[in-house]
Amino acid sequence: MFEYAPAPESRSVVDIAGSYGLFIDGAFDGGKDGNVFKTVNPATEEVLAEVSAAGPEDVDRAVAAARRAFGPWSALPGAERAKYLFRIARIIQERSRELAVLESLDNGKPIKESRDVDLPLVAAHFFYYAGWADKLAYAGFGPDPRPIGVAGQVIPWNFPLLMLAWKIAPALATGNTVVLKPAETTPLSALFFADVCRQAELPPGVVNIVTGAGDTGAYLVQHPDVNKVAFTGSTEVGREIARAAAGTGKRLTLELGGKAANIVFDDAPIDQAVEGIVNGIFFNQGHVCCAGSRLLVQESVADELLASLKRRMATLRVGDPLDKNTDIGAINSAAQLARITELSEIGASEGAERWSPECTLPDRGFWFAPTIFTGVTQAHRIAREEIFGPVLSVLTFRTPEEAVAKANNTPYGLSAGIWTEKGSRILAVADKLRAGVVWANTFNKFDPASPFGGYKESGYGREGGRHGLEAYLA
Ligand code: NAD
Ligand code: MG
Repeated sequence: MFEYAPAPESRSVVDIAGSYGLFIDGAFDGGKDGNVFKTVNPATEEVLAEVSAAGPEDVDRAVAAARRAFGPWSALPGAERAKYLFRIARIIQERSRELAVLESLDNGKPIKESRDVDLPLVAAHFFYYAGWADKLAYAGFGPDPRPIGVAGQVIPWNFPLLMLAWKIAPALATGNTVVLKPAETTPLSALFFADVCRQAELPPGVVNIVTGAGDTGAYLVQHPDVNKVAFTGSTEVGREIARAAAGTGKRLTLELGGKAANIVFDDAPIDQAVEGIVNGIFFNQGHVCCAGSRLLVQESVADELLASLKRRMATLRVGDPLDKNTDIGAINSAAQLARITELSEIGASEGAERWSPECTLPDRGFWFAPTIFTGVTQAHRIAREEIFGPVLSVLTFRTPEEAVAKANNTPYGLSAGIWTEKGSRILAVADKLRAGVVWANTFNKFDPASPFGGYKESGYGREGGRHGLEAYLA
């Protein structure tokens, strides 16, 4: 095998300040009670910056700013709001190199992905919803659809800037104003985005960014003057938020976990399927709610496919996220690494067979080698629970009916994949899968025009596409 020389992207393309305040009413300021927390680079454990932790008074101020901005913002003609969104999209494109490096530093994801997937999708999302802003009357939600008001938005750490785009772009296009809380391990790209809003001369208060941990998020989503809550994260927290919002009249969308089946039939092109399996579970270190974390492979091709998958996994390069050759970066946090480690140990102790290619992991930082478990049954915890890491559980099946039954045997229902040469089988199987997104002969493909969301414990509501407008319209 060839050795790759290091090809590091320069970290000096982005300026990171020593400390950051909250972005409220168009300006940065320190939190009221002066609490701060640190965000680290998970690949090195180096502290990147100190960030304000917003307390209740800060959230109150942010919500009040969003409320004041709501009247004038919602009264603007859609074409005027669109101008701001187009401006934001263009600035993101212009500054995408800075943003990609910042995202990889704060999150641990490979620069190849932040540069070629996250950032282009972020810009595309703003362009897409900018296009809707003056066409809302034709979106199928009545002749004069109205915004809801102030949106409280809480996002996770796996796609920090992309989840921000999914939340903020449709909210603004429809005339709402927002208070957004990024995850505590990845606040930096949202703060950078605040600067993009200033550069775009977005009116103060339309976007407010409050940083902090779960208690800040809880206070925001329970705030009485928040009209609409949008959350992406764990099912556990999603449940808490749904309970708190019940009976308040708040509108709520939840995008929670998943345990997607990636189904490979015996007529599938094996090499292509292997690429899709690798992309399905090792993309973004497996920190993906729609990851193809359960491989269902037809028994007659299982040996051939697994041999090929192992050969492919042995070529994956794990290491420095800023190296342009890196395929798998760092696990986002020590806590997430502990969860992945624990569930993997449970998998082995329950009798599944564990395999990883030989790979040397860096000494510092949070790392986990790409791993597969074979001999997994539906009763195993690694077949049922979301691991949210680079760990694949492999199960087999004999008939399409069995594949469908196993695929649907999960409390989740976010996504699924089907690999087969037969178009008729794709349609027949997709029709029976209880999943919000079904990919055929590909996996983890995203487009702003395509709605995304789940069934069952994966949450409710749709983000993206025309459907994504509905969540922000009264
Ligand atoms: P989490 O749900 O605790 O955190 C997600 C966001 O919610 C963060 O911004 C966090 O600060 C905030 N938050 C936490 N408690 C809150 C509360 N009570 N009210 C309002 N906001 C709150 O997720 P985690 O602990 O970082 O990860 C745990 C597991 O969740 C992962 O292992 C994974 O299985 C799953 N997860 C799923 C997604 C997804 O995209 N669906 C994203 C992250 C994590
Ligand atoms: Mg970080």
